[in-house]
Amino acid sequence: MTMASVRPTTAATARLRPIGTTPPTVTGGFWAERLGTNRERTIPHGFEQLRSTGTLDNLRAAAAGEGRYRALADSSGATFPFLDSDVYKWLEAVGWELGRPVPAGTHGAADGLADAADEAIGVVAAAQRPDGYLNSYVQVLGREPHADLAWGHEFYCVAHLVQAGVAWHRALGDDRLLTIARRAADRIDREFGPDRRDGVDGHPGIEMALVELSRTTGEQRYLRLAARMLDLRGHGLIGAGRFGPAYWQDHRPVRDAETVAGHVVRQLYLDSGAVDVAVELGDEELLAAVRRRWADLIRTRTYLTGGMGSRHKDEAFGDPFELPPDRAYTETCAAIAGVMLAWRLLLATGDVRYADAVERLMFNGVLPGLSRDGRRFFYTNPLQRRTHRAWEPADDVGRRPWYPCACCPPNLMRTLSTWPQYLATADDDGVQLHQYAAAEIEAETGQGTVRLSVQTDYPWDGAVAVRVRDTPDRPWTLSLRVPEWCGSASLRLNDEVPGLLLPGRYDCHRRWAPGDTVVLTLDLSVRVTEPHPRVDAVRGCVAVERGPLVYCLESADLPADTELEDLRWDGARLPVAVGPRAGGDPAVGVVVPVLRPGAADGLTVDAVPYFAWANRRVGGMRVWIPR
Ligand SMILES: [Zn+2]
Repeated sequence: MTMASVRPTTAATARLRPIGTTPPTVTGGFWAERLGTNRERTIPHGFEQLRSTGTLDNLRAAAAGEGRYRALADSSGATFPFLDSDVYKWLEAVGWELGRPVPAGTHGAADGLADAADEAIGVVAAAQRPDGYLNSYVQVLGREPHADLAWGHEFYCVAHLVQAGVAWHRALGDDRLLTIARRAADRIDREFGPDRRDGVDGHPGIEMALVELSRTTGEQRYLRLAARMLDLRGHGLIGAGRFGPAYWQDHRPVRDAETVAGHVVRQLYLDSGAVDVAVELGDEELLAAVRRRWADLIRTRTYLTGGMGSRHKDEAFGDPFELPPDRAYTETCAAIAGVMLAWRLLLATGDVRYADAVERLMFNGVLPGLSRDGRRFFYTNPLQRRTHRAWEPADDVGRRPWYPCACCPPNLMRTLSTWPQYLATADDDGVQLHQYAAAEIEAETGQGTVRLSVQTDYPWDGAVAVRVRDTPDRPWTLSLRVPEWCGSASLRLNDEVPGLLLPGRYDCHRRWAPGDTVVLTLDLSVRVTEPHPRVDAVRGCVAVERGPLVYCLESADLPADTELEDLRWDGARLPVAVGPRAGGDPAVGVVVPVLRPGAADGLTVDAVPYFAWANRRVGGMRVWIPR
């Protein structure tokens, strides 16, 4: 994804645009800690893994013309052909990190990142063939380029190379990767461009990358190639293959398919590219097709956590309301792809319901994929883990430092590196705040430059103070999002009497003065949530939410003689928030009333935010609690 892929040209038909040239700066609180961990621990850890697993050596072998293709052993025995993409995702993350100020509380780990990135860029450059072709799997194994478009992931890898190149260009003005990426894209364009060979990749991604390349270079042929690849899909070019046509998104034309289908990440990457093309070409029909699929996806196939994808088999969507908590697949990358698509739809339409989805996905779908220490990852994110499991594969004992199909870890890195860019947008009328974090924001509006300071302890506290630092003389509009989960909210401007707000977008239009302060207060009362009655797997259960966070119970918080599976919800008592805790931990927990068999009186147990689970001993966990 990235922001890389989210900056429309001035000619685009998007309603909102990303903030000017300088992304918002996160200055403290929840997100400063997460972003600092990503920069100081996760990204350096990623480089160690790219080295130790042989992923970088594959590119070295391609450059040398000798050596073997290395990959971690997968339980299926597969050798994955797409490992170059992990280098590119990591490089993209580093590009964004080096291009923004060191976050509060970070201590200079960036120096090592620049050296590591130089090494990786040198390896990538050396591996590229004179004609622009670049794929270590094909080169090292001596395969024919583009002979297996369904499974080869060759365009997919180039897509991530392009996104890395765009990131380095935008964040640093460094065009080393962009030059490599253009040559790789040109190689594809020469073989697959208009009036040439018809072909699409079994894994979408190249479509949004080509739009980004078009935006960055001003060359329309990349946009044309992206549009062509969208149009070619769904006509049997890939066919059924090993997994059936829906798996590859080749079952229906992109503008005809009524619902999402097949492999989740493939579907969401494809639809992200479709929005990009639709925005650039003013293609309302194409945009409407994606919005239709998204609305159905949110209504029928999305978990409480925002997670998507209920089947392990083929990493696929299930049927409508097939949302088992224990067998949920909900790949971390699917949540990331959901953020990418929702963000594009937000920009294209201005509808803040898409920002609601970004928030739910980011807190409860993306963040659970990363451990608190930043060095261990989840690939799948079920909503229930049983205390006793009959079969515990060696690769499924909690979080892991890396995966044979690495995929999610470097995707998390680049997503966190771009998170500040999701906080706000601008348009001709003013600035729109979509996500709440302590931050400094500078935005170019049609009325002039606006500078804002945001102070908040969100998501632990519901007060968000927005102070105007610099403002044009002319009136402009400050827009704030009241999330869909929020039962009541109030807004106070300076010393005026607060006004009550309903969920949705609230616009404050006026002539602003430096020092003007707006305080939005969101009600963070604990909520007890019932599932949709059609979700059979959790019928009769409830879940606990507070603000944007979904909570869960973990074995680690239960008395020694109590098992998680024996607990039932005690409807006679109410859950209550507790915290912030002593010792400086700002996290707010929830105490949940439960009953256990054979006990005369009830019990209260701590619930923790779902994103924070599995940071202690491995044990049971559940989001949905039976009544
Ligand atoms: Zn993944």
